[in-house]
Amino acid sequence: MKLLIATHNREKLREYRELLGAREPELVTLDDVGIARDVEETGATFLENARIKADAYAAMSGLPTLADDSGLEVDALGGEPGVYSKRYAGDAKTDAERNEFLLDKLRNVPQEKRTARFRCVIVLNDARGNSWTTEGVCKGEIGFEPRGTNGFGYDPVFVVADRGLHLAELSSQEKNQISHRANALRTARPIIQQLVKEHDK
Ligand code: IMP
Repeated sequence: MKLLIATHNREKLREYRELLGAREPELVTLDDVGIARDVEETGATFLENARIKADAYAAMSGLPTLADDSGLEVDALGGEPGVYSKRYAGDAKTDAERNEFLLDKLRNVPQEKRTARFRCVIVLNDARGNSWTTEGVCKGEIGFEPRGTNGFGYDPVFVVADRGLHLAELSSQEKNQISHRANALRTARPIIQQLVKEHDK
């Protein structure tokens, strides 16, 4: 069985392959199935955006489709950047600039008020009219400076709860044990396995 991972990002595909482990289903990306058109993520929540993508790409491809939406929620900023994580501080900015922007916004916020979490929502659509939703979080706080060179996005400024290390200081294997995406996928995995079983019947 093929499962479409609704992304153009090879890095995300690699992460999902690592997290799912099993040989089945075969994971393919939008590029693999020739879908070049991006659907607009117009939702106000991670769930709405993940659902928009899962439904649209399942309809376009006819394949069971997994779409996710994720981002960073900072309590002192009322949950920002949230669904705007990717574009925070402006469209053409680099990850490093976005991290500087965030640190600057929190300059006068003391450590105990810097709590934050990454959140990931997954929507699975089996292309037969059924869909499932799962969610995972990774708890922590925003540090006072960037640290580490692994990962991407806000990893350098995110201090993992109970570890005292920034996410970018962890190896990809370590991150994959605790990440919001891993936690959301852990719940989605049995559903995916059930889809494979039904497909093989
Ligand atoms: P997407 O859901 O993969 O499109 O992620 C949206 C944005 O959230 C990314 O561009 C990052 O800025 C941020 N983000 C999501 N997951 C992570 C992560 O694991 N580490 C760091 N930043 C993340």
